[in-house]
Amino acid sequence: MTIYPQISANDPELSSTGNTWLISNATLIDAESIRLDASLLVEAGKITAIASRDDLLQKAPQNCAEIDATGYSCAPAWNDSHCHTAMTFLRDLTHNETNVIESLFFPTESNLCSELVGPLAYPHILQGLRSGTACFWEHYYFAGAIAESLEKFGVRGMIGETIADQGGAFPSTTIWPEWRNQVENWKFSDRVKPLIAPHASDTVSDNLFRELANYAKANDLVLHFHLSQSKYEMEKVKQATGKTPVEFADSRGALFDKTLAVHLVTATDSDLKILKNSGAHIGYCPKSQTLYEELAPIHKFIAHEIPICLGTDATASNDSADMLEEIRFAAFTMLDRRAKIRTTPEKTAFAMATKTPGALRSKGSKDSSGLLKPGHEADLVLLKNPLDVWPVTKADTNLVFTNSSRNIAHTMVTGEWVLWNQEPTKVNISDLEAEYKQAIQEIRKLAGLPQPIPLAR
Ligand SMILES: [Zn+2]
Repeated sequence: MTIYPQISANDPELSSTGNTWLISNATLIDAESIRLDASLLVEAGKITAIASRDDLLQKAPQNCAEIDATGYSCAPAWNDSHCHTAMTFLRDLTHNETNVIESLFFPTESNLCSELVGPLAYPHILQGLRSGTACFWEHYYFAGAIAESLEKFGVRGMIGETIADQGGAFPSTTIWPEWRNQVENWKFSDRVKPLIAPHASDTVSDNLFRELANYAKANDLVLHFHLSQSKYEMEKVKQATGKTPVEFADSRGALFDKTLAVHLVTATDSDLKILKNSGAHIGYCPKSQTLYEELAPIHKFIAHEIPICLGTDATASNDSADMLEEIRFAAFTMLDRRAKIRTTPEKTAFAMATKTPGALRSKGSKDSSGLLKPGHEADLVLLKNPLDVWPVTKADTNLVFTNSSRNIAHTMVTGEWVLWNQEPTKVNISDLEAEYKQAIQEIRKLAGLPQPIPLAR
């Protein structure tokens, strides 16, 4: 038996930078099973084997380092499946406002530029990473700048430029050809992939919506957009087209198995049947919906067996990018007795952050993601189970209802530790702070918004 260099998961510093790892003695949790005292081998960015430590010690290659994860749970890292990471500049300013999208977001966002958007995304990415998020499904203006920020942290991104010709912060017919050009000359690493992101059914014209849907289908890309997100959108689309937003999107060919349609707060029962038959996925952002419109009918989504992906949306409409908190909140929304959901809420919420978005991301590609299985991408969290959350008996129930992000000790993306002991390994936080402070001062000034109180040292 070979003895590999051993690191305790409790070590304050990461003492090896290799990408071949034996994670031993952990509780493995994914959306399909819980395995106690199990070990997992990571090679070349993928999970290659799951077995007992003794078995894996025979298989592990020479350059392997072992992490003793006794007392830790290991889970697939989260997908934040709908977010606008750069909207941190609106933090604290949107509570108790009505029609914030039209009255506050669009006019202030119209002051943005690519130099500002990149740094403005840092706090959302940092908070998400510290809560165990490995993949950010981004939908925003100047999306290339956000892709660069995600690359700095070493995390994954599914990146879409917000496209709208009849509304939004930058109504334009030129943004789409410009984004298509970026997609066709993609300059980012394999961790960051493009998608197509029309803004919503009330801000994109008939023809453009159809063109974007056709392009996504023809090129096997995810089509990610807001749909039926407010009463305002419902009324506007009905007035203009005589259809509900879902019927309108369907008539444009925008609902298919790589669609991620977000919110569906005002969707009717017949809309949900259309969605179910189309194979589309629903994006569920329960904290954002509760704060700014109303909670989407989650019990109906589940009753229709529509695949659901979980997201935080934006700092402007949620305040927090903490995905573990979002998973917990999603589970609570399913516990409401009136919802009459027969599935297990913690398992359902956990799958919405892991297995379901992982499967959507992997559809049509050679990669697999979202489960702890050989062949799946090695995007993992190691979650500590200390005294304050102990005794842990049902590991998934404890993870969702008891544990918290401060115990997300380490996060791995494609076999590399990008968070160790709650600290990002790829970026220097003080450099980011300086850039962020400058960006926030500038956008707040340009948009006529108040300056914040000083940042803690
Ligand atoms: Zn959104």
